[in-house]
Order: sequence, then C-alpha cells, then structure tokens
Amino acid sequence: MSRIGIFGGTFDPVHVGHLVVAAWVRAALELDRVELVVANEPWQKLDRPQLSPAQDRLAMVEAAVEGIEGIAASSVEIDRGGLTYTVDTLEAFRVDNPNGSLFLILGSDAAGGLNTWHRHEEIAEMAELVVVDRPGAIGQRPSVAHRVVDCPMLDLSSTLVREWADASRPLDGLVPPAALAYCSDKGLYG
Ligand code: ATP
Ligand code: MG
Repeated sequence: MSRIGIFGGTFDPVHVGHLVVAAWVRAALELDRVELVVANEPWQKLDRPQLSPAQDRLAMVEAAVEGIEGIAASSVEIDRGGLTYTVDTLEAFRVDNPNGSLFLILGSDAAGGLNTWHRHEEIAEMAELVVVDRPGAIGQRPSVAHRVVDCPMLDLSSTLVREWADASRPLDGLVPPAALAYCSDKGLYG
C-alpha cells in the first residue's frame, strides 16, 4: 500500500522552502513519494497579473526535483486544464492508487484558509492533512483533523523571489540550480 504525499502549489517559481518541506514530511511520515503538483490556474491567484505559464512552472519543478529521491513533479492539474481545485486532484490520485493513502501537505498559511477551498469537507475525507509551519503564519491550522510535522522554517516565498529578481538580487541558493538555469534561459523573472 503506497503512501503518497501531495504538495500542491503555484511554484512561480519553485524555491528551496518547497523542497525542504517535501523532504522532511516524506521522512517524518515514511511516505513512498511526495508529488509537487503544479497548479494550472490557481483560483486564489487569478487576480495576479503575469502568472508564469504553467508549462514553465512545471519545467522548473521538474528540474528542481531531478535526482532527489522520492520527490517528483506532477502535471496532473495542468493536463486536466481549467481552474485548479485540489479536490479534483485528490480524486485523480485516488483513482490511480485505489489502495494508497494520500497525505495533503499544506504550509500553515494555506492550512489556515482551507475552509474557503472548493468542497473542503471532501478534501479532509480524501486525504490526511499535514501542516508545516511557515514564517508569517506560525500556528495557523485547519479547523478539521490534521497533523503537524516539524521542519526547518525558511522565511522564503515565491513572491519574495520574484521581488528579489526584479531588484536584480542573486537567487543562488534560494531557487534550486537547475530551476534557476531554466528561468534565466527563458528570461522568466526580473
Ligand atoms: P507565493 O508567494 O507566490 O504565494 P509561495 O512561496 O507561497 O508562493 P506557493 O506555490 O503559493 O508558494 O505554495 C505552495 C505550498 O507551499 C503552500 O502550501 C505553501 O504554504 C507552501 N510553502 C511555500 N513556501 C513555504 C515555506 N517557506 N515554508 C513552508 N511552506 C511553504
Ligand atoms: Mg503562496
């Protein structure tokens, strides 16, 4: 019976904070793998001008996880197309892994807002919720059953990375090297 962690996000761009969460939760809960699921059109972020193309965000995540054991990139939301709802993603993983256990990994900022998500009651029934604290949102928790995993807290977000890129600050060490090479090639940020 496989144990699968599902870590969804916009990943615009992926940064080391995402990788640390995936690796530490995988180890703590003895998951077979953690899937970084790249959102197609995140409904929470439709008002953001200039969201990077989904294929570029996916390519950066694929580059970032290359060679890391037990961490993978998932294109399931991009392949499905349209607005991205986590409940549909959990359903897709359940169909593909009928005997598996699903663990939905959430930073505490996301966890605190879970009750605003589309069909959130079903989300909590389809997967075990796993929360990791994040600077700026420490202690925010969903109102339903969940577990908390301790991991190093990195005060880092994709928003900060984009701001730093705009200000021509170095991104080395913040964005995994292969992902950084991809965004330089494509001229994605800054
Ligand atoms: P943005 O600033 O664009 O919202 P982000 O850094 O929050 O980007 P997302 O793609 O929005 O990244 O987040 C995907 C998931 O990763 C969410 O569950 C979020 O809480 C979590 N996450 C992101 N950065 C961190 C971090 N530094 N520590 C812990 N969790 C994080
Ligand atoms: Mg975010």
